[in-house]
Parts: sequence; C-alpha cells; structure tokens
Amino acid sequence: MAGVKKPSHSKSGATLDSHGGRETEGFRLVNPPTAHGSTVLFPDARTFMAKSSPWFYGRTGSATHRAFEDHLCELEEAETCTLAGSGVAAVSLAILACVDAGGHVLITDNAYDPTRGMCDGLLSRMGVETTYYPPSVGSGIDAYFKDNTQLVFCESPGSLTFEVQDLPAIIDKARARNISVAVDNTWAAGVFLKPLTMGADLSIQAITKYVGGHSDLLMGAVLAADKRMAGRVARTARALGTSVSGHDVALAHRGLRTLHRRLEQHQSSALNIAHWLAEQHLVRDVLHPGLASSPDHALWKRDFTGASGLFSFVVDWTDEAKTAAFIDTLQFFGIGYSWGGFESLCIPADPRTCRSATEWTQTGQLLRLHIGLEDEDDLIGDLRRGFDAVVELED
Ligand SMILES: *Cc1c(COP(=O)(O)O)cnc(C)c1O
Repeated sequence: MAGVKKPSHSKSGATLDSHGGRETEGFRLVNPPTAHGSTVLFPDARTFMAKSSPWFYGRTGSATHRAFEDHLCELEEAETCTLAGSGVAAVSLAILACVDAGGHVLITDNAYDPTRGMCDGLLSRMGVETTYYPPSVGSGIDAYFKDNTQLVFCESPGSLTFEVQDLPAIIDKARARNISVAVDNTWAAGVFLKPLTMGADLSIQAITKYVGGHSDLLMGAVLAADKRMAGRVARTARALGTSVSGHDVALAHRGLRTLHRRLEQHQSSALNIAHWLAEQHLVRDVLHPGLASSPDHALWKRDFTGASGLFSFVVDWTDEAKTAAFIDTLQFFGIGYSWGGFESLCIPADPRTCRSATEWTQTGQLLRLHIGLEDEDDLIGDLRRGFDAVVELED
C-alpha cells in the first residue's frame, strides 16, 4: 500500500526536520522502518544477473539509510550524501576522494586536530603533501596554490579558536584553478551555513554532534554538490568499505527531527553566556563569532544565519591548579570530548599544540564550552561558582 502522494511544497527549518526523509514506499508509519541486514534477496536470477538493482548488498545501505541521506541532502542542498562511521571517517573519505599520489592539499591551520593527523600521517605516507594556511587567508589563498594542488579544506569557524573563513573568496580562487573545496560544516550543523550553495564541492558533518544531538552515536556524512563529486566520493567509499548500521541511522534520524528547534536553544543560551563571560574580570577574551567584539563578526554575519552552542574563552590565568579548581567546581558541565548533545561540557585546551602556520599569541588558559539544553541561569550560576573557586585559591 503506497502512501498517498501529496503535492510537494518547499520545506525549511523546523518544518524540514519534521517532514524530510519520510518518502518510503509502502509504509504509513511516521518514521521510516529500521532495517538491519547484510544479504539482500533478489526476486529472480535474471534480476540478479542484470546487475541493475541499486539495492544489492547491506554495505551500501537500506531504505533506512536512504531516507536519512535524502533528508540530509535536502538540508544542505546536496546531490548525494555518503554516511561514514564517524566524523573523522567522513573527513578522511572526503579528502581521499579528492587527492591522488603526488598531489597537494591545503588545510586551514585551525582544523580539527585529527584532520591534521590524517594529513600528516596517512596522506603523507601516500605521497600527498599538505600545507597549512592561516584561517584569515581569504583571497590570499592563491599564493598557496601549486601546480599539483587538488583540494582546499576549510573548517569555519575552526575548532577551539573559532575564526571564520572567507569562504566565497577562497571558493572563487579555487574554482578558477579547478581545485576542489571541502568544508567541515560540523559547527553550523548544516543549518547556519550552506557551503554547497556557496560553491563548495563537499560539505562534511560529524553527525555525532548536533544532528545526532544526544551523545549516543558516532557517525559522519559527506555531502557532494554535483554528480562528478558524488561519483568520486561513492567510488572511494566503496573501496574503503564504508558502512553504518541501520540502528545508528535511525537514532541519528530521530535526532534530525528536532535539529532546528534544539539549535535555537543552543544558540540563544550560548550567546547569552558568551556575553556574560565577556563581562567577568577573570576573562580576557571570548572566542565566539556572534559577539560584536569578535574580529570575525562581520564575516560571520555575512555568511552564517546563526551560531551553535560551542565556543571558547580565554582566562587570565595559566596555573593548572586554578583551571582544575574552576572545572571541578562545575556541576552542570561535564568534562569530556565531543559536543552537540543536550548536555553542557567544559574542557581546557591549548591551541598551540595543533597549529603550525599561525602563532597563537594569547597567553591565558583557553577553556572550550558546549552549551547544552539546561536552564541558562543554572549554567551561569555554575560558571560563577567556578570563578569564585579560582578567586578563593588566589586569596
Ligand atoms: C568532532 C568533530 C569531527 C569528528 O567527529 P567524530 O564523529 O567524533 O569522529 C570532525 N570535525 C569537527 C569539526 C568536529 O568537531
């Protein structure tokens, strides 16, 4: 029994969350069915021998996967979506789809540290050279191009330090030289920034973060702008044997249903807390592009439609005992990696350990916050008690 066809109106924001990815033939449940499986049975030998079926083995997914992939394609206006077992797997897949032995890639200096690890390790072993460029490079990117440059990899805003990149300027220069552009779009969750509509070839998301949204799964997605790119990603994924379980896809799709609504709350609490932090006397700087005081505020305003809940701030101490006192006093902020879930997190980090093209000149301790869905006043009270604990140590 096929679903009754209704006219298709364009969907955006929270309406897309609710109504995207529901086109599965033959079922009338609100959610697509969750399929698990390896073997796909063919109806008869001739169908098998014709090798024309898009459904032939569990590794390439099921209707469960397709519904979620279609939904992400609609979100990011992509041609195709390829799922991978983690955000890191998606980053590696995207890069490997774009490079050949003897090639050269340009990576933003504030990229997620494991992205750098992949380039310095695996890519280097394959004979692919990496150059890191300053996140503020803009149209100056062309000074970094070589004859064998195949990819510019962007992440905006970047991990830990949240500099915004001038993507249109970078994309413009790369296109003129036929160089691919990939953007790690995890911070904006595919909601606040649409790199493919700006001319990027690939957008990458750690689904682990906001789309999953509940800290209960690991997954990544590579979204391709056109058929040529889609083909390269698909062939690379096939070679790597990339696959994710239907159960995880169903969990991720459940997260996607509330993505825009959750982000509204993450955004507003995080901005309010960032403003509050900027007024605290122990805080030297708040690294959040949504603040008017941010050097990247104008760029962010031009290219983004909002901000998520992840940002950093720099305090006026470096003493480990003070950092430990601050963090250990917090009751509502967990200490741990990852982010994008309903819960708040706080970790100390040192940007100097993961950049090479630019110098990190701030001398105070950097703390990264993920602002979850808790009551904002509770979170501010928690941070206030953290600062009080530091002041007590000083006395
Ligand atoms: C977390 C993260 C990743 C990796 O995602 P995992 O699912 O944890 O592997 C990639 N890029 C960015 C910007 C991230 O924050």
